[in-house]
Amino acid sequence: MNMKRVYTFGNGQAEGRSDMKNLLGGKGANLAEMNLIGVPVPPGFTITTDVCTEYNQQGKEAVTKLLKNDVEKAIKHVEDLMGTKFGDAENPLLVSVRSGARVSMPGMMDTVLNLGLTDSAVEGIAKKSGNPRFAWDSYRRFVQMYGDVVLGMKPKSKEDIDPFEEVMDEVKKQKGVKLDTELEVEDLKLLVKKFKAAVKERTGKDFPESPWEQLWGAICAVFDSWMNERAIYYRRMNQIPEEWGTAVNVQAMVFGNMGNTSATGVAFTRDAATGEDIFNGEYLINAQGEDVVAGIRTPQQITIEGSRRWAALQGIDESVRASKYPSLEEAMPECAKTLIETQQKLEDYFKDMQDLEFTIQDGKLWLLQTRNGKRTGAAMVKIAMDMLRENIIDEKTALKRMEPQKLDELLHPVFDKAALKSAKVIAKGLPASPGAATGQIVFFADDAEEWSEKRKKVILVRIETSPEDLRGMNVAQGILTARGGMTSHAAVVARGMGKCCVSGAGEIKIDYKTRTIEMSGKVYKEGDWISLNGSTGEVYEGQVNTVDADLSGDFAKVMELAEKYTKMDVRTNADTPKDATVARKFGAKGIGLCRTEHMFFEGDRIKAMREMILAKDEEGRREALKKLLPIQRQDFEGIFLAMDGLGVTIRLLDPPLHEFVPHQLATQKELAAEMGLTIEEVKLACDSLEEFNPMLGHRGCRLGCTYPEITEMQARAILEAALDAKAKGADVHPEIMVPLVGVVEELKMQAEIIHNTAKQVFAERNDWVDYKVGTMIEVPRAALTADRIAEVADFFSFGTNDLTQMTFGYSRDDAGKFLKIYQEKGILKNDPFAILDQQGVGQLVRMGTEKGRSTKPGLKVGICGEHGGEPSSVKFCASLGMNYVSCSPYRVPIARVAAAQAAIE
Ligand code: PEP
Ligand code: MG
Repeated sequence: MNMKRVYTFGNGQAEGRSDMKNLLGGKGANLAEMNLIGVPVPPGFTITTDVCTEYNQQGKEAVTKLLKNDVEKAIKHVEDLMGTKFGDAENPLLVSVRSGARVSMPGMMDTVLNLGLTDSAVEGIAKKSGNPRFAWDSYRRFVQMYGDVVLGMKPKSKEDIDPFEEVMDEVKKQKGVKLDTELEVEDLKLLVKKFKAAVKERTGKDFPESPWEQLWGAICAVFDSWMNERAIYYRRMNQIPEEWGTAVNVQAMVFGNMGNTSATGVAFTRDAATGEDIFNGEYLINAQGEDVVAGIRTPQQITIEGSRRWAALQGIDESVRASKYPSLEEAMPECAKTLIETQQKLEDYFKDMQDLEFTIQDGKLWLLQTRNGKRTGAAMVKIAMDMLRENIIDEKTALKRMEPQKLDELLHPVFDKAALKSAKVIAKGLPASPGAATGQIVFFADDAEEWSEKRKKVILVRIETSPEDLRGMNVAQGILTARGGMTSHAAVVARGMGKCCVSGAGEIKIDYKTRTIEMSGKVYKEGDWISLNGSTGEVYEGQVNTVDADLSGDFAKVMELAEKYTKMDVRTNADTPKDATVARKFGAKGIGLCRTEHMFFEGDRIKAMREMILAKDEEGRREALKKLLPIQRQDFEGIFLAMDGLGVTIRLLDPPLHEFVPHQLATQKELAAEMGLTIEEVKLACDSLEEFNPMLGHRGCRLGCTYPEITEMQARAILEAALDAKAKGADVHPEIMVPLVGVVEELKMQAEIIHNTAKQVFAERNDWVDYKVGTMIEVPRAALTADRIAEVADFFSFGTNDLTQMTFGYSRDDAGKFLKIYQEKGILKNDPFAILDQQGVGQLVRMGTEKGRSTKPGLKVGICGEHGGEPSSVKFCASLGMNYVSCSPYRVPIARVAAAQAAIE
């Protein structure tokens, strides 16, 4: 096939362009573009990402053959522009070989610098630069880097000895010096010799003397690094497909370590943490890039202003700052001026905050890289809104700049950045519900309540949570569980509460008996302080300070834009008036799912519920239901009032009944006493509810179909509450939703009970409200027969938690155990409970929507599974023409932005 594999650039010309990122990688595409817009860039060439795919399919030898001609030609191109020659003894060309994927994956893949140095070339460089120390220092760095990256000598674990470090330490010791910079030419020569000996010893081969052999080794190593552990992990974390591959950039070296008129640094055109429009960055005189990152020397600030701010934070006096740590503006004013002009030029051109790498060689500035800089959620919002105000970008572009998920960082109290720097990470789990929480460890829900009544801040630590823990969860600052995935009870409930939660921290060992937890080899007791980062899944030792979120200003402006462009509504999953109010503040257009069962766990309600469940016959059940009716009515009224003017979807009872009965002997005894039963009777009744597969058992509308009086009571509570709220002046729109329907007859039966109850209630009250009866589509059979179901339903709401569970056949409660391994092995790209599986489950959602609307063209369709707040899933729902997505209150802004993006993309 005659495909172009190598793209050259240099001297104001380039074969590539910035819009060729897929082929050339971000770095390669921008290097090309920088040439075209007149920014000084050392010449070089890019081997495409397609070649990476060929490499992974066909292997080293085949690809080297395919590339040979093109790479030789491209090297010639660089030689001509630089006036040097690859491998020459007098005037050698040295190159860097770097990775560069479509999106930046900082530090995940490999780089080789100073390539082309050999025993003869080093003499040429020494002579040409008039600086033998520089030449030999570059050579020893090269042998070390090449040994690590290409020859596989990098230590595999912390315990392994780094052979190069060992040699380095030995030479420094002999010489009696501490710093690398104190080594002289002869020492560096000795280092090179010893490094090479170490290579021979470890690999059994001589260090390659041929620059071409070096080059092919480095190119292949960079391709190999696409599949290294770090890169794979990073891709998984950021959902970067493996098929993309990396490009390889080969570029003439320029040196920041040629003496005191040379320097190297990194810079951002705006502040990546806060978004402030201030050029900032760090540099080091007489250094190579790796020195800036290595932390051996203290990097200095580029601008005077930045330098002064830095000194103030460090408590460094102005006179000390100016003499010891001068800014680039002070140390190299001419270069600083060019750099400041160049950064502005690049930001103006790319119209986004840029992250730059530069080198100054002997007083001349070179740009090595520019890319859109990574930034925090706060910086993302501020930069986009500033650029919109500055007329640099338009509204749609500003909206597209949002990574919706990142808005989350802005909604919850956040850790103080300075405090986080010194925090000690002691465990890591899933970032189940974002936020920052600090509190004392408690292991039981009632302790959580008791402690919080005494105004103590607690973190509830559980192996896993159940609905019985709800009250404890509610008062805790955060929740940490050893088991459970992203849709585990703890995660779902915590997100609903906007409460920080780290779930599935499998490495921690919880002992309820001794009330201790072991993390990172240390035992923590009840009462010890820990902090949770629900956005990263990290657990820290002790108290880490937090600060409150601010939702006005630029954040509000982003929401306004979302409102302007969206075509799909965002509703919320809320079970209490408090949650409903929060969600409304975030812009929710109604409630898409009110899970009624959560209400039964507050106060003494659980008792009435248990009485209902343990009742021997219908009469007994009806007695108990009578007690529940006013409680439910009151809850629903609060929700109708909070959602005045908006639709409120209330779902009938869904979970298996055994979740409501006590499993501990003490509580069973209590219940027996209260109900006038023997303990044996209670035990027997509780045991009889036990199921092997409760998730697939007697739950959902199967409860309402077997005990119609439950549906009757709930329908009555909803409609009476609606009438009560109406009487108080609220505009109410009740929507009663039947869960877990798989057969249209189930829905028919439930709808009939609801309509009959409505007739009765309206007659009794001599008043009425408009109401709807709809269904969840969460059983595959419901999606397959959606045309039939639509004959009875006024609306559909896809319950993609259950639909995912039943389509994959993965239990929601147990999948956590193997899903992580599945992702590690590449069987699954993502957790399908967090990100909708568009290929499989998505087909059912599409089919359900289409079939439903084939019966009722105007059928209102939404989604209320956890996916309703996940940006890629929200976009998928928009593409199906859904009317709304519904998600937990704190994800409403995220879904709103994702929905707006779907409308303009
Ligand atoms: C669902 O299954 O997607 C759903 C919203 O219901 P639940 O999570 O309560 O089963
Ligand atoms: Mg469900």
